[in-house]
Formats: sequence, structure tokens, C-alpha cells
Amino acid sequence: MAARLCYSPSDIWSLREKIETKDQREFVEKLMKIGHMSPIEHASFTFAVEGISRACSHQLVRHRLASYSQQSQRYVSEETGFDYIIPPTIRGDKELMTFYEKFMDEAQQAYNHIVKKLNEKGKKGEIANQDARFVLPNATETKIMLTMNARELLHFFRQRCCFRAQWEIREMAHQMLLLVKTVAPIIFEKSGPACVNEPCPERVMYCGKAREIKRIYGRFVKGKNKAVNKGTGGSAKKSKVLGSQKGLFQE
Ligand SMILES: Cc1cc2nc3c(=O)[nH]c(=O)nc-3n(C[C@H](O)[C@H](O)[C@H](O)COP(=O)(O)OP(=O)(O)OC[C@H]3O[C@@H](n4cnc5c(N)ncnc54)[C@H](O)[C@@H]3O)c2cc1C
Repeated sequence: MAARLCYSPSDIWSLREKIETKDQREFVEKLMKIGHMSPIEHASFTFAVEGISRACSHQLVRHRLASYSQQSQRYVSEETGFDYIIPPTIRGDKELMTFYEKFMDEAQQAYNHIVKKLNEKGKKGEIANQDARFVLPNATETKIMLTMNARELLHFFRQRCCFRAQWEIREMAHQMLLLVKTVAPIIFEKSGPACVNEPCPERVMYCGKAREIKRIYGRFVKGKNKAVNKGTGGSAKKSKVLGSQKGLFQE
């Protein structure tokens, strides 16, 4: 409607009626083709994300044209065992995995020790949590809700579906792209990493996989994609373990 308004002498109510009775596919296609992007800023998408690390959410919130609400480490205690993400490189190495899990156990003990000591001094609840969380690692699992408009999402996918982006945010971006494609297929038809539509902006840091990426995203365009990362792992002794075993885009 925002785009139609730009080009129409009609009043808003008649415009709305016309839009509701006529297929808008062709018009939206034309907008995307000519790059008239401000109308798609009126279409926003909300995602509820869990099972990602704080390392991932930190990268996510660098995208400023969005709204975020994240589970608090002040109001939510991790005393009963924090969840954490295991990178696939570590999961695939038995020795590293033992080391990693031991470290997570130690971090948990340190957290609980600090909370206990602060409690003894009368500092309880969020007062204790907010300082004890300093010993929690980047791997700690988080939950976040975010809302982005379609234009920002195109930008986000362009950057974060790129093979140069870190595997975790890349997988998350990819899952988000699959979701929005189902509800707004025309807007996101050609969406994906930059190299799908233009020369790689990474230049000397080019990953060398443009052909493979074009093939993968080309498949999505034709609606043949079946690849969905399941994103769950086993469980460790104390803390719950989340994270992908083998996603589509892991190195
Ligand atoms: C592969 C990769 C590696 C990265 N490595 C690092 C790193 O080593 N260190 C690091 O700090 N970050 C790093 N980043 C994060 C990156 O620098 C950006 O902060 C992040 O990707 C958000 O992108 P953005 O600023 O374009 O977008 P958004 O915040 O999503 O904004 C969208 C667009 O709006 C415009 N915009 C938004 N805010 C402003 C503003 N204040 N002024 C002018 N224009 C604005 C810009 O055109 C911007 O592109 C990396 C990102 C990627 C994808």
C-alpha cells in the first residue's frame, strides 16, 4: 500500500480496497526490480530465537535498525546450570570436548560460589546475579526476540548469510531467511549473501565459494530447499548443552 500510495492519486480507503481485490505480486516484483525500497520498510518481521550463544547474540545486536528483547542475566539466575553452545569444531574433537566441558563445569562452580558468597553478605537476587554473570562464558545460551523490517533483513541476510560470517550467526540468518521466504516470497526471492546478486564485496577476503553459494541460494529461489539445521546436541553432566551438530553451512 505504501508503494501504491507513491504513484496513485486515490484516497487511502479506495487504494486499500483496490489492493485487497487485486493480486499485488507483479507490482511488488517491479518494486524490487527497480530498487524502490522504502515501502518494504513498512513490512516488519518478528523472530523468537533460542539456542544461540551470547557470542552470536552480540553479533546480532550490532544490527542497529531492529528492536531486541533479550533474556536477562540479572533477573534470571543461572544457579541451576547454565545452558551452553558447543561449536562443531570442538564437538568433533574428543579431547577438546572434555576440556570444554570441564571449563563449563568450572564456570558453573565459580558462578554458584560467587552467588553464595554474595548472598551471605545480604546481596541477593539480581544484585548477586549481575556480578556473578561476569564469569559466564560467551558460549552461554541466550534467548532473544527481534523485530526487523524487510529492508534491514535484506541487508542482514546479505552480510550474515555470507560464508565470511561466523557459522552460528550464519546458520541463524539462514533459518530466518527460510522463514521469511515462506511469508514474503517475492521480497526475499533473491535474498542471500551479497555474492548471489553482485561481485563479492569481501574482495581479498573472498571465501572462494561463490559458485557453490549461488547454487545453494539458486535452489532456494526455485523453492527446492530442504536443508534445515536441527540445532540440538546431547546433554552434559551439569549444564544443558545446545548447538548444532552439523548445519548446512559449517566450515
Ligand atoms: C563477516 C563480518 C565480520 C565482521 N567483523 C567485525 C569486527 O571484526 N569488528 C567489529 O566491530 N564488527 C565486525 N562486524 C560487524 C560489522 O562491522 C557491523 O557492525 C555489523 O555487520 C552491522 O552492520 P551494519 O552497520 O551495516 O548494519 P546495521 O546496523 O544493520 O545498519 C544498516 C545500515 O544502516 C546504515 N546505518 C546504520 N547506522 C548508521 C549510522 N550510525 N551512521 C550511518 N549509517 C548507519 C548503514 O548503511 C548500515 O549498513 C563484522 C560483520 C561481518 C558480517
